[in-house]
Amino acid sequence: MKIAVTVKEVRNQVNEWRRQGMSVGLVPTMGYLHEGHKSLITRAVSENDKVVVSVFVNPMQFGPSEDLESYPRDMDRDAAVCEEAGAALVFHPEPSEMYHEGFSSYIDMNTLTEGLCGKSRPTHFRGVCTVVAKLFNIVVPDRAYFGQKDAQQLAVVRHMADDLSYGIEIIGCPIVREEDGLAKSSRNTYLSNEERKAALILNKALSEGKKLINSGEKDADKIKATISDIINTEPLARIDYVEVVSWDTLEPIKEINGQVLAAVAVFIGKTRLIDNFIIS
Ligand code: AMP
Repeated sequence: MKIAVTVKEVRNQVNEWRRQGMSVGLVPTMGYLHEGHKSLITRAVSENDKVVVSVFVNPMQFGPSEDLESYPRDMDRDAAVCEEAGAALVFHPEPSEMYHEGFSSYIDMNTLTEGLCGKSRPTHFRGVCTVVAKLFNIVVPDRAYFGQKDAQQLAVVRHMADDLSYGIEIIGCPIVREEDGLAKSSRNTYLSNEERKAALILNKALSEGKKLINSGEKDADKIKATISDIINTEPLARIDYVEVVSWDTLEPIKEINGQVLAAVAVFIGKTRLIDNFIIS
């Protein structure tokens, strides 16, 4: 497995593979890899001849008061995880390689980015779309893999790939959880023991919401209220949002119909965690 730090190195390697008629998969990450990331890499390895994993803590998708500086990083461990999962190339650029001086072109989306995480993180998806567009242009993969853990991101990237005619297949992968149900996240490392226990409330509340839908409840407000009430029983939890939206448009819905995304963002102490389920 190779580690590339420049765009040029990635292009040269991918061009070489292309000359040999190989297919290429891309897994974009911010590193500090866990089993969730690994599941994406493993899936990509099973569906492509070569897999590129990008490890880049993208400054553009962090707000001014967010955790860019403290975001966990461990490139040696990440390289080992990528190698073990069968990746062929890790792209680990410095911010200056991705955003040269005078950088001033961005990808903005008017739909899909206003609600959910976009509401409390107003510049987040501009950063996500811009970096993913750059990675698509650098790697030019056949397929790119994203986790349902970041459901809005998955929807936004799919929409962008379609809008901008990338011709890249966007593949959504299921949420990988700890044994006790907490969705795996690099940010879980911020949690104290007490907070780690409190964080279980996200999955617990969502599971009750899912049960309610499965038992035939159609009123989205009732489902939201059930989820919120359960989260509010946890003293360390502070809700950022609890939403029930159409998985197609990410617009809030009144009645459960078609594919539905129930998503939450909750502060546990200072750490903002997200979780969700999609149900038909
Ligand atoms: P991140 O490094 O947090 O930007 O995540 C990189 C990719 O891994 C994104 O597509 C995430 O949705 C995905 N991912 C993160 N956590 C999980 C998880 N627990 N299960 C599945 N995919 C995940």
